[in-house]
Amino acid sequence: MGHKCSYDASLEETIPINNHFITNNTLIDMEILQTFYDELIGFFGIGGIIRLVESGDYSSLSTFDGVRNVLGPVIPLLLVIEMLRGAFYKRFKIDEYKIPFLVFVLNRFISRFISIAAVAFCIGLLEPWAIITTSFTLYWIIYGYIVWELAHFAYHYFGHKVRILWCLHSTHHAPQQMNLSVNFAHFFLEAPYADVVRTSICILLGVNPALLFFIMFIDGFWGSFIHIGENTLKDARLGFLQPIVLTPSHHRVHHAKNPLYMDTNFCNLLNIWDRVFKTYQDERMEMKIEYGITRQMNPNSLWDVYFGEFVCLGRDIAAAPGLRNKILYIVMPPGWSHTGSHKTAKMVRDEFIAEENIERDIEAVDSVRVIA
Ligand SMILES: [Zn+2]
Ligand SMILES: [Zn+2]
Repeated sequence: MGHKCSYDASLEETIPINNHFITNNTLIDMEILQTFYDELIGFFGIGGIIRLVESGDYSSLSTFDGVRNVLGPVIPLLLVIEMLRGAFYKRFKIDEYKIPFLVFVLNRFISRFISIAAVAFCIGLLEPWAIITTSFTLYWIIYGYIVWELAHFAYHYFGHKVRILWCLHSTHHAPQQMNLSVNFAHFFLEAPYADVVRTSICILLGVNPALLFFIMFIDGFWGSFIHIGENTLKDARLGFLQPIVLTPSHHRVHHAKNPLYMDTNFCNLLNIWDRVFKTYQDERMEMKIEYGITRQMNPNSLWDVYFGEFVCLGRDIAAAPGLRNKILYIVMPPGWSHTGSHKTAKMVRDEFIAEENIERDIEAVDSVRVIA
């Protein structure tokens, strides 16, 4: 292994974009190219790998940062492979990727910035109130992950069950197909909301910041991977992992609007809390998944994907009689109405299961009759 030279950040500044021999137009062009290059490197997260290869010093792979640099590009690369495979099999449709990418561009800076600030604020505020002290050992990592999953469950569950929070989360559920670009479809205030809830619960339950960031990284990686599309991975149940791990199959079910699948599988890496809170649902291979949300919408309109739920909520509040009803529209589950004329996801799902049970009972009675 050659140790020619270690990485030197100052080398980056020698890229000749400030060359005085070129005209202003060329200068602007080059700056645009440089920005584009930086964005591309940033998107793929390959800056770390480039530095690693340039330095020839691979010892950093034994550190968390080193591993992160190598794992970081996996999801964007898988996304490109997924699109290429789609193109190869003539199943690639640009519409299936357009809106998530536009939303990604919209969120690129502002969401991340607010999120980091919110996490730092929560840690500073709540760390003195932690009920226990943890360290960075295997047992505490397992403890931390179970706590993190609980916190993730809480954020995600309320994102579906409280109308105003659903307004933030619904952008992620708008796409009517599953592929890795769905990762980018998020309302810009959702990440700060999610991070405040998850960080607060974890810090209060003693997950220390180093442990929290480690878990956040694994969670982010897995949370992206579970959006892998059918074009790349047809049966996504992952074999023996299915009973304990939240697989892409579970998450496909979560994104479905089929009555049986609605509002299930809220976990991210381990499906334990879905089992505890009775929201666990396996994929039935004979039941084709219909992706998306139940209201009539235009999945190709950025406006509708981003603000559609806010507009609907605004209309319901305006039409509701009395202050109490207006407030209830904001905090009750989507589908709740003061007249009882609409159904929530839970009502739709419960009705479906009840009907299925009745059918099963009738079949059982019939078969008993046949035998008799
Ligand atoms: Zn969701
Ligand atoms: Zn998702």
